[in-house]
Amino acid sequence: MVHFPAEDEGMHYEGYCIRPPSEADSILLQVTLGCSHSRCTFCGTYGDKRFRIKDDKIILSDILWASRHLAQEDRLFLMDGDALIIPQKRLLWILERIREHLPNVKRVGAYANTKSILKKSLEELKELRELNLGILYYGVETGDEAIREKIRKGSTAATAIEAGRKVKEAGILLSVTVLLGIGGVEHSLRHARATGVLLSAMDPDYVGALTVMLIPGTPLYEDYAKGAFQLPDEKGLLRELREMIAHTEMTRGYFFSNHASNYLPIKAKLPSGKQRALDLIDAALRGEVALKPEWLRAL
Ligand code: SF4
Repeated sequence: MVHFPAEDEGMHYEGYCIRPPSEADSILLQVTLGCSHSRCTFCGTYGDKRFRIKDDKIILSDILWASRHLAQEDRLFLMDGDALIIPQKRLLWILERIREHLPNVKRVGAYANTKSILKKSLEELKELRELNLGILYYGVETGDEAIREKIRKGSTAATAIEAGRKVKEAGILLSVTVLLGIGGVEHSLRHARATGVLLSAMDPDYVGALTVMLIPGTPLYEDYAKGAFQLPDEKGLLRELREMIAHTEMTRGYFFSNHASNYLPIKAKLPSGKQRALDLIDAALRGEVALKPEWLRAL
């Protein structure tokens, strides 16, 4: 039976929902459930959801509800995992309805992955840009090929670079996340250097460095429990962050490590703020800067 949403039902959120920290004040419109990839070994984000695109009637009902209750907001974020995977015609329809009913929204954001970006042609990405898709959040995690394969990222560093550049060429802001600790103790510095090389080639607008959290039920956690994966300690993670920033050359962008999962918050404008960031990490390594206590770290 087709369900026609009632006027006063509110937003139809399903399951555990996440959004980037920078979208905290945005209208959150859930257009997909879960993630179309759903294979990364460290990720437990959408464990309870099978990927699907939500019904157009529900999406429109949520847009109309937002137009009555959140009409003044100028940003909107499309949840869940990778809304960009939605076929072009349908995604254009969603963006057109947002423009029609929420005229104050000037920037729409979404998560993306390598597959969802490369499935779109440059022209299609530009079409989306025209309809206010202004920022994509892209988890690249590492530039190291062997680690990418091990964590089942589903793409090579070269294709990730191609995808990131395509987003920028379409005029869409590119915000990427990298994962501190994902190479374990053994490959920590190799991961840091390769990731710096990837970031330099991709040249995103924003980089957010998160620290891997070991989530029970994920394959990475099983490796950890068996002793096959060891997360670097606080100082090891700081050395990794330092090495990554030292190997990152961006023409104009920001490198953040201010996520709740990290021990040392950093906000560096690159390239001008690079040395200051490295100096701050060195001071932390010498014990001259307080690190975030374990109990304050969270996903
Ligand atoms: S692509 Fe992102 S959301 Fe999907 S499984 Fe990997 S880390 Fe999780």
